[in-house]
Amino acid sequence: MDISPSLLWPLAAVFGLCLGSFLNVVITRLPVMLMYGWRAEAREALELEAEELPRFNLLSPPSQCPRCGTPIAWHDNIPLLGYLKRRGRCATCGKRISPQYPLIELAGGALTLAVVAIHGANLASLFLIGACLSLLVLAVIDFRTQLLPDVVTLPLLWTGLLYHLLFQPLMLQSAVIGAMAGYLVLWGFYWLFKLVTGKEGMGYGDFKLMAALGAWLGWQNLPLLLLLSAGVGALVGVTAQLAMPRLRGTPMPFGPFLAMAGWIALLTGTPLIAWYQGVLS
Ligand SMILES: [Zn+2]
Repeated sequence: MDISPSLLWPLAAVFGLCLGSFLNVVITRLPVMLMYGWRAEAREALELEAEELPRFNLLSPPSQCPRCGTPIAWHDNIPLLGYLKRRGRCATCGKRISPQYPLIELAGGALTLAVVAIHGANLASLFLIGACLSLLVLAVIDFRTQLLPDVVTLPLLWTGLLYHLLFQPLMLQSAVIGAMAGYLVLWGFYWLFKLVTGKEGMGYGDFKLMAALGAWLGWQNLPLLLLLSAGVGALVGVTAQLAMPRLRGTPMPFGPFLAMAGWIALLTGTPLIAWYQGVLS
C-alpha cells in the first residue's frame, strides 16, 4: 500500500488506540461472561433451576460507571482523550477510573505502531497486529484472573497457521509442528513438575498459548520463547519479591511472560530469529 508517511503514522496510531479501547471491553467483560456461562452449566448439571442473570456480553450493557451506573457519553469514551478530559474520574460521581483503561489503549497504539514500523502497512501486518493484541488480552486476563480463555487462545493458534498458509507457505510445516510441539513441551513440563513436586505449576491454558505461539513462530523458535519467557519471568518474579516481600510464595501466572516473549519474537521477527538460528548452527 502506498500511503504517505504523514498520513500513515497518525492513522496507525488512531487505529491502534481504538483497538486498545475495544480490548479494554474484552479484558473486563470476557472473564465475567465465562463465569456466568460456567454458573449456568453447573446449575444445569446439578439439575437446579436456572438463575435469572442480567444480559451481559461485549455490547450490552453499554459502558457505565461501576459506582453510580451513569452511562458513559461517547465523547468521554474516546480513547485516551476521554480519560484525560475527565482527569481519570467519572463525570457524574467523581469516582476514579482505573488507569488500566488508558494504559491498554496506549499499549494497543504502541503495538500497532511497532508492527507497522517493522513489517510495513500491508495485509500480513494486520494479522500480526491481531496476534500482538490477542497476546495483550491474554496477558492482562491471566494476570488478573489466572485464566487464559479458549475463545482467545484457540483462534490465535488457527490464525497463526492461516498466516503462514497465506503469507509464508514455505514455513507452514514449521508452524504446524510448532503448534503441536508447543503444546507437548509445556504439557511435559507440567507432568514432570507435578510428579516431582506434587504441585501444579501451570494450567492447560498455558499449553494452548504455547501451541498458538508455536504456530506463529515455528518449532525452531520454541526454545527461544521458553528462554525469553522464563528469563523475563524470573527477572520480574525476583524483583517483585524483593520489592514486596509479602508476595513470596504466591503463584505467578506464566501467561503474561509467554505473551511478552511472543511480542519480542513477533516484533523483532527475522533479525532476532536469524541471529538465534545463527547461534545454533
Ligand atoms: Zn460515577
